[in-house]
Amino acid sequence: MALTGIQILKMLPKKNCGECSIPTCLAFAMKVAAGQAEIGECPYVSDEIKEQIGEASAPPIRTIKLGSSDEAAMTIGGETCLYRHEKRFENPTGIGVLVATDMSDADIDGRIERFNKLRYERVGVLMKADCIAIKDGKNDSASFTALTEKVLKGAADAKIILMSDTAANLADAARACGDRKPLLYAATNANADEMSKVARDLDCPLTVRGVNLDDTVALSDKLIAAGHKDLALDTGARTIRAAFEDNVVARKAAVTRKFKPLGFSTINFPCEMTDDPLLEAMIASVMIAKYAGIVILSDLQGDILFPLLLERLNIFTDPQRPMVVQEDVYNINGPGEDSPVLITCNFSLTYFIVSGEIEGSKVPSWLLIKDTEGLSVLTAWAAGKFGADLIAQFMKKSGIEDKVKHRELIIPGYLASMKGELEEELPGWNIIIGPREAGHLPAFLKEWKPAA
Ligand code: SF4
Repeated sequence: MALTGIQILKMLPKKNCGECSIPTCLAFAMKVAAGQAEIGECPYVSDEIKEQIGEASAPPIRTIKLGSSDEAAMTIGGETCLYRHEKRFENPTGIGVLVATDMSDADIDGRIERFNKLRYERVGVLMKADCIAIKDGKNDSASFTALTEKVLKGAADAKIILMSDTAANLADAARACGDRKPLLYAATNANADEMSKVARDLDCPLTVRGVNLDDTVALSDKLIAAGHKDLALDTGARTIRAAFEDNVVARKAAVTRKFKPLGFSTINFPCEMTDDPLLEAMIASVMIAKYAGIVILSDLQGDILFPLLLERLNIFTDPQRPMVVQEDVYNINGPGEDSPVLITCNFSLTYFIVSGEIEGSKVPSWLLIKDTEGLSVLTAWAAGKFGADLIAQFMKKSGIEDKVKHRELIIPGYLASMKGELEEELPGWNIIIGPREAGHLPAFLKEWKPAA
């Protein structure tokens, strides 16, 4: 059971010194209970208490980091709920591609090249595949390590999953990874002790692969008893139905019953469930929607990867926090002192649509983005966060008056009723009603001229 803030407070030194960057112990305890602060941020807590609180407030699905320990690491797990609307999903499903020592060089090079090339930006977020699973297809240490080195060099930001049934081969390839810590795959009934030793010696997370869900539970239990904390689960399911059921059962058991052997991220292999690329993409999309920690694809193609990335972005966006861009004055197409000045809200979808249309118009422009806490234009206006007084305050502090000679401000067409009020708040400025739809901005801007 997770501890409450009050239970955590009882274990704190109650100095209220603020060294944890939070003014009081009570506020700090509440943040730890809500998962927004780490108990280790208080320098006065003993290791024993840290372990006690850390264990009790840990999410039911263990959080695991792959790759280096810096910010570039990929995090999986950390999930606390069954449905996104209950809270949010924490860490996006990792999407990976398979390469193997028994593939041709051309096939391997193509996959590495596409891993590096297929990157997309949407609402300010870089979307791309995350990991490369390297398979010891020949059961040969030399070729497995050589392929691992090739991937490490060729895909600098790929997180690595090493797949071999032979512990010694896995150890050799894992050593080549240095501080880009790989996920080891996999401990089975046949090799669990050797794999356990390799994972412990090299301090790497380890995948448990059972022949079915029950077998996976037994093996996971055994590795937990041996002291392993960072595990991932492959229940052996190789049909969409079995993988779906296992993912759901594992998540439910971990979240609702705190069942430790299933309290880890699952790894699914759509690449081993079909030879049809479209069916594989469909299977991957189901796994992303239903709890997979990692999915491995047979190849990366833009028409398959992009929809999966977009699905993932939608599912793992926090429904309680709108995506926002920073309040600022944005220069688009190199504006000058005679360029138009437009203003809108900081809901990121609005920003990217409006800025995209201005960019496409090729008209140099100043785009003022007012912080509306991520609300869209009309909602922000109705909520009193995009009123004339607030826009006027922002205009004054933005410094736009020093950047342009004219005094014309283009406001969204939906806010036409605000014109008079805004002119009162901004003496000297002429308020121009812009188009209602962003798609009409290019034609509008091409026609616009500052008043003489
Ligand atoms: S650093 Fe520790 S003692 Fe000081 S306020 Fe934070 S929780 Fe309390």
